[in-house]
Amino acid sequence: MEMAYNDLSAQYQHLKTEIDAGIAAVLEHTQFISGPQVEELEQALCRYTGRRYCVTVSSGTAALLMALMALKIGPGDAVFVPDFTFFATSEAVSLLGAEPVFCDVLAETFNLDPESLRDQVCRVKKAGRLKPRAVIAVDLYGLPADYPAIEAVCREEGLLLIEDAAQGFGGELAGRKACGFGRLSCTSFFPAKPLGCYGDGGAVFTDEEPLYRLLCSLRVHGKGADKYENIRLGLNARLDTLQAAILLPKLAAFDAENETRNRAAALYGSLLAGSAFCPPSVPADYRSSWAQYTVRAGSEEERAAVRSRLEKAGIPTMVYYPIPLHLQKVYAGLGGRTGDCPVAEHLCKTVFSLPMHGYMEPEAVRQVVAALLRR
Ligand SMILES: *Cc1c(COP(=O)(O)O)cnc(C)c1O
Repeated sequence: MEMAYNDLSAQYQHLKTEIDAGIAAVLEHTQFISGPQVEELEQALCRYTGRRYCVTVSSGTAALLMALMALKIGPGDAVFVPDFTFFATSEAVSLLGAEPVFCDVLAETFNLDPESLRDQVCRVKKAGRLKPRAVIAVDLYGLPADYPAIEAVCREEGLLLIEDAAQGFGGELAGRKACGFGRLSCTSFFPAKPLGCYGDGGAVFTDEEPLYRLLCSLRVHGKGADKYENIRLGLNARLDTLQAAILLPKLAAFDAENETRNRAAALYGSLLAGSAFCPPSVPADYRSSWAQYTVRAGSEEERAAVRSRLEKAGIPTMVYYPIPLHLQKVYAGLGGRTGDCPVAEHLCKTVFSLPMHGYMEPEAVRQVVAALLRR
C-alpha cells in the first residue's frame, strides 16, 4: 500500500466528532456567509499568533493581493520577493501592475537571502525606473525567514514588509510566532498547508487598526459603512462559514500536530545525518512547522533516480519547486536569465520533499529513510 504524503484522512478520523458537529451547526443556522464561526476563528487566530487583528479571506492568494492593495502598491512600484517560492507570492504583485524583483535565497534555510535583497534594492535604485516599495518574505516549508536581517534592510531602505506565511503558520523565531512579522502577514488554509481547511481559505494579520478596517472593506467589494455603499474597489474574498467551522477544531489540535511534525523532523534529521541527502537545517532560536520536509540530492539526475526508487517502494515524494520565478514563462518579459539567482536555480534541480504530516508515526519515518538510503 502506498504511504500517504500528507495524511489528511488520519487527521479527519482523529477530529471527526468535532468537525462533523461544526459542519452540522452551520447547516442548521444557515449563515453560510459571515456566520458567527468566522469571527470566533479570527479571535482564536489572534490569540494564537499574538496579532491584534485578523481578517479571514478566501485564499492565501487573496490575502497577498489584499495586503498589497492595503499598502497601495501599484504601477511603477518594485516589490522584492524570493526567487524560490510558490508562484502566488509574485503573482499578486504582478496582478496589481507592480513589478516583482527576484532575490536569491540561502541554500541552508531555502529562505530569502538578506544580502541578495540588499543588492537588488541597490540595483533598482540605480536603474531608477521603479520605486522600491515593499518586500514579501516567505516562510518556506514552515521555517520563518530571517526577519531580524530583513527588517534591518527594510528600515534602512524605507521598505514595507509583508510576511507570506502561507506555509509558515505555527513556526517561531525567538519566541515570536509566524504571522506576526511585518506590517501585514498572510497565510493560507489550503488543505495541504500546516493549518488547512476543506477547500480554499486564508487570512491577513496586522497590528494596525486603520489597515484592519481597510482590509475589512477590501474583503467585501470596498464597502463603506454599509454593504451597499462602495467607497473603493475591492474583492469578494470572504472565508466561508463552513471552512471557519472546520478550522476551529483543527486550530485546537494544531499544537499537538505541530509537535508530532517536529518529532518526525528530528527523527528524519538524525537518521539522515551524514548521508548523501542534505537534511534541512533549523537555525538556533527558530522553530519550523514543517509544511514540507525537504532534502537535497547531489544532482538533478540523482534526484530523479531516488524519487523513482521511492515511488517503487510505495513512498510518494514531491518537488517544490521545479522552476525559479525569474525563469517562469510568464515573466519572460522581465528579462530574467539563467545564472541570475544561482542558489534558487540549483535548489530547483535538487530539492525533493518527503512524507510529513501531523499524524506521522516514527515507523513511517524509518521506512522512508530505509528506502532512501537503500542502494
Ligand atoms: C500556498 C501558497 C500561497 C497561496 O495560497 P492559496 O491559498 O493556495 O491561494 C502563497 N504563497 C505561498 C508561499 C504558498 O505556499
